[in-house]
Amino acid sequence: MEPRSVLPGAWLGLLGGGQLGRMFCMAAQSLGYKVAVLDPADDSPAGSVADRHLRADYLDGRALAELAALCRAATTEFENVPAAALDFLARSARVTPLAASVAIAQDRISEKTFLAGHGFAVAPFAVLRSTDDARGVDAALVPGIVKSARFGYDGKGQVRVATPSDVVAAFSAMRGQPCVLERFVTLACEVSVIVARNERGETTTWPVAENRHRDGILDVSIVPARVDAGVAARARDIACAVAEALDYRGVLCVEMFVAADGALLVNEIAPRPHNSGHYTIDACVTSQFEQQARVLADLPLGDPSQHTPAVMLNLLGDVWFDAGASAPREPDWRAVLAHPRAKLHLYGKAEPRPARKMGHVTCLGERLDDALATARAIKAALRIPDDLP
Ligand code: AMP
Repeated sequence: MEPRSVLPGAWLGLLGGGQLGRMFCMAAQSLGYKVAVLDPADDSPAGSVADRHLRADYLDGRALAELAALCRAATTEFENVPAAALDFLARSARVTPLAASVAIAQDRISEKTFLAGHGFAVAPFAVLRSTDDARGVDAALVPGIVKSARFGYDGKGQVRVATPSDVVAAFSAMRGQPCVLERFVTLACEVSVIVARNERGETTTWPVAENRHRDGILDVSIVPARVDAGVAARARDIACAVAEALDYRGVLCVEMFVAADGALLVNEIAPRPHNSGHYTIDACVTSQFEQQARVLADLPLGDPSQHTPAVMLNLLGDVWFDAGASAPREPDWRAVLAHPRAKLHLYGKAEPRPARKMGHVTCLGERLDDALATARAIKAALRIPDDLP
């Protein structure tokens, strides 16, 4: 154990109150820590399970001072937390990840420039900061996708473009916000690797997840991914190398495209646990959330080995609505709970809305096919469109 380890019984701080924070709280509390959450919402998934909920803006001086006085270490659960809040806490507490790593992932331009600059393969792209940039794009970058540089996630802030003149129209539809234009890549599949790295540079990765999206939102993660062993090994190496290049501390997700020719292109990095790593709670020796707490507290890294094949199925707010209905109703959870190897996780959000992440189910199986069969049965029962191969 490191002399500076923060041991169970101490307080850990968390910026952000969403479901990732909720699952972090639960993992940290189960290790014996107390967790204080700073989040402006009255009622938030993490705030409602935290030992203390400071309801204030992330830049509220009094709340930050209170958090700093209480907590020996602090982390974040979302990348749009102001860097100034992390820097403030870092004056008196251990903070992982560092504000500088979070800042790179907050903006697609800095993210792609960082990745390409460090030699990681990415989809060919151009930075659009002005109408002149949009007019001058290389015709080889279309067909493509114009993506806003900031605050775009789950497919939001993205426009598909087929011709150079579409690029100009898409850029002006983004109201002049800085964007990137990315060439459309023909994908064999999409994968992600979650990596944890501590301040001594030790890293662990979890098995590669194969991710399938619907309407730009993660629908299922299948683990282990059905890709060649060589592709999986390269994906894990790339994730470690990205963490190294960032001198990252904490849990990081590296999302990648597997191109038709087997090439791996880094799509996005998330400086936090990720939806595609939720399966680790039920299918691995150490979950991504426990590992987040271990790195934060400077404990030895836990074993990330997967003990059971898994399919993670997201539960979006759509599941709460019958076709054409405007009022939500509670889904019939018996259809999930009837499966002895399906693990239901609900995030405690009061208001279901279409496309809102409300929970997930991890389907475990002796073999991956068994987990897939359970996921299909649950999808059918909850009327979630099923395009699982
Ligand atoms: P993103 O928000 O960048 O992760 O994009 C959302 C989804 O759009 C991805 O998960 C892909 O399915 C698809 N996508 C994004 N960029 C590309 C690209 N350059 N080529 C092909 N598909 C893409």
